[in-house]
Amino acid sequence: MFSCKPYDRTFFDVPGNPHDMLYLETGLNETTALLAEGSGAVCCFVNDIVDTAVLECLHEHHVQLVALRCAGYNNVNLDSARRLGITVCRVPVYSPHAVAEHAVGLVLALNRNIHRAFNRVRENDYSLNGLMGFDLHGKTVGVVGTGKIGATFARIMHGFGCRILVHDPFLNPALDGIARYVELDEIWRESDIVSLHCPLTPDTHHLINERSLRSLKPGVMLINTSRGGLIDTRATIHGLKSGRIGYLGLDVYEEDSDMFFENLSHEVMQDDVFARLTTFRNVIITGHQAFFTREALERIAEVTITNCSAFEKGDLDSAVRVM
Ligand code: NAD
Repeated sequence: MFSCKPYDRTFFDVPGNPHDMLYLETGLNETTALLAEGSGAVCCFVNDIVDTAVLECLHEHHVQLVALRCAGYNNVNLDSARRLGITVCRVPVYSPHAVAEHAVGLVLALNRNIHRAFNRVRENDYSLNGLMGFDLHGKTVGVVGTGKIGATFARIMHGFGCRILVHDPFLNPALDGIARYVELDEIWRESDIVSLHCPLTPDTHHLINERSLRSLKPGVMLINTSRGGLIDTRATIHGLKSGRIGYLGLDVYEEDSDMFFENLSHEVMQDDVFARLTTFRNVIITGHQAFFTREALERIAEVTITNCSAFEKGDLDSAVRVM
């Protein structure tokens, strides 16, 4: 298991796991792939590199299965895996509630300035200047992507008494009576809060850019817990400086693969764009932790173990295969 943190291990070191585990803190890449020698499978996470070179090395060392302990598989070269006869499986759903609730957490913290109030009170400063929020009740929330997470987020925000506008090429019947499907332009124009819950594809890359920013309601709150590439960060910084964006909540960042999940507190920050983002008082960034609940980690381990067992028994229909 590559990129393994102590908290991952807790959920795999359970009596129900019949597999011999080798826990490695290092990520999977061309240099570390050799460590898989003698293993039937590798288990990877979002920032592990599973490109052609890595897959060829795994194949040479008789690894037959890549068991992803995440939903996305954009880090795997599926064509090469297919050519080399390596099976790839994943965990498509773990907890939509975890991510949706984190997005709501960002909304509430930004709106009521909870991050700033926390610091003030620690400084013995109980003044309220600059901390004023707004009632969520009656506000319009735009949700882009109404799959499992987007629909869960929309339902929670509906519970606050918000008007919900949504956009997705596919209608989700779970939102009947809760949300209205509209074109993106209407989402941009009407929403006080916009939350992104669609995958990163060539179509959605930089969905938030200079142009869409001009269409957004001045002072809009923008939330992204999906993938960093949905937002053009430089354009967003201009939007924050001009006041077009009033609040920004991020759990993902375009260049997050070299940073997130690691303790870099002893290093000098090299990314000037990210550094600029951290200077705004109306920006909250969390390091890809929206999924990080006990329930989600339990489910990830459970499905990954089941996938490995199904593969071992040759019962590929029971494994959640990518291909
Ligand atoms: P899902 O597949 O259930 O839903 C995605 C939805 O986006 C689908 O309904 C799809 O039709 C829609 N979509 C696709 N292209 C679109 C477009 N151009 N415009 C609008 N909608 C579009 O996925 P999900 O489980 O709800 O996950 C949503 C995203 O959340 C994932 O893509 C992933 O990137 C992200 N995610 C983040 C974390 C985290 O910890 N921050 C954890 C899990 C997932």
